[in-house]
Amino acid sequence: MYQALYRSYRPETFQGLLGQDHIVRVLKNQLDAGTTGHAYLFSGTRGTGKTSTARILAKGLNCLAPQGERPCGECAVCREIAAGVFVDVIEIDAASNNGVENIRELRESVNYPPAVGRKKIYVIDEAHMLSQAAANALLKTLEEPPANIVFILATTEPQKLPSTILSRCLRLDFHRVSEKVILERFIEICDELGVEAEPDALALIASNADGSVRDGLSLLDRCIAGAGVVTRERVLEFLGMCGQEVFLDLTGMVLDHQVGEALLLLDGALAQGKDVNQFARDWVEHFRHLLVVKYVSNPQAMLNMSLENIKRLQQQAERITLDKIKDSIIELSEALSEAKWSTRPRVIVELAIVRLASAGYAQVRPVLQETEKPDMPVAVRPKPTGPAAPVRDVPQAEPEALIAGPPQSESMEPIANPQRIEPEPQPVAHTGELSCEELWNRVMQDERISKMARTCGSVLAEITDHLFTVEVSNSIQEEQFKKEEKQLVEVVEEYTGRKRRLQLLLNDAETQESFL
Ligand SMILES: [Zn+2]
Repeated sequence: MYQALYRSYRPETFQGLLGQDHIVRVLKNQLDAGTTGHAYLFSGTRGTGKTSTARILAKGLNCLAPQGERPCGECAVCREIAAGVFVDVIEIDAASNNGVENIRELRESVNYPPAVGRKKIYVIDEAHMLSQAAANALLKTLEEPPANIVFILATTEPQKLPSTILSRCLRLDFHRVSEKVILERFIEICDELGVEAEPDALALIASNADGSVRDGLSLLDRCIAGAGVVTRERVLEFLGMCGQEVFLDLTGMVLDHQVGEALLLLDGALAQGKDVNQFARDWVEHFRHLLVVKYVSNPQAMLNMSLENIKRLQQQAERITLDKIKDSIIELSEALSEAKWSTRPRVIVELAIVRLASAGYAQVRPVLQETEKPDMPVAVRPKPTGPAAPVRDVPQAEPEALIAGPPQSESMEPIANPQRIEPEPQPVAHTGELSCEELWNRVMQDERISKMARTCGSVLAEITDHLFTVEVSNSIQEEQFKKEEKQLVEVVEEYTGRKRRLQLLLNDAETQESFL
């Protein structure tokens, strides 16, 4: 019979428990010293090993191994507990067993000593779902615990438990398991199963597990189920374009003014059956996350996310301004309320994407783009064709439409220190949009500019509402550009639809000195 991975790879001893060393240490010490308590509260996010640990502790309390580490995982008791048939371990799902009848049963049952084991263990899962009456009954038992009875309460929401119960339990908080630990385990599992998997694919699963081993194993399970190699593409298929990386990507595209790519990404998500309104709502949530990581120094608990996913958010938050986050949330919220009444909500969300991606484009070129790209966890490959194709085929003869965004204050985007700008290739070929580089190429082809200025290899470093900054590498070039300032201003104005002053920048300190 087929068994789900998260069941067949459930840890049977402390050794197999992932990422909860702090808890293993406490419980092992207590078992060794014989100082285990009569009530525990295991709290933590789903899939971090709470019920597995409860079973391991139950085994440790009843293990028959004469010496060595307990639980051994091999004696009759350990095996029976693992199979869920040991009579003195009672697992109760509080969500479905919180009626009066269940409580009466429980209260009667705790009065009986263990039938065969040393200790009788009650594992109460989803303990926060206990009804008021059930919680009261449990409290009475916890106040006067019968001998040889141990309660283990497991919950994802400890704050919902009455403080009277909390105060009578030894509370152990389960951490989200780090991606590294999950990934290492997945590699082992694939080896054992003889499954071929791309390291990239497993890393993507580990990141989407968001600290939950069980969620990760379920996803791995589904990816393995189809025959063949587990590839990154297959994982993305199963993820259904709803993971955090989709919104990291989309926001990155918007920041880089990649309108076409952003529309293609939306198209891909909708093609997979994602609801357009839900998509926009999730995106707003992503901007909220960016807002939180920008201001909260330790946002892990607030966002309920793994450390690694927080780090990805922080990387993106570093390159987005508060104004941009604010504008994006407003823009998307407006689009959402508009889309609610529209028969074609998709076009409204598409329009919002275009607005967000082209806003402030004239202010600054995306200087951080090339250095930040390798850190972006996932790049969704745009399909070669799609409904967004017309956007990519903007007629090259009318560059004003794309280069001149709505007038905005210069504080909208961080203006990079011009001294540090290095000539970088712009992603012109991919987007079909007019970058600084392409604009400058056109200006430098204009006949009004002298051949000497045109061939000296200058770079348009930055363009703001009032200024365009040209980087030159020596003072001779600088002189030449000063002479032709009037023509340059004129040509740039023709291409961008706005009059701007010329600022010259000598970018090479050594050359600068030698020419002085
Ligand atoms: Zn044992």
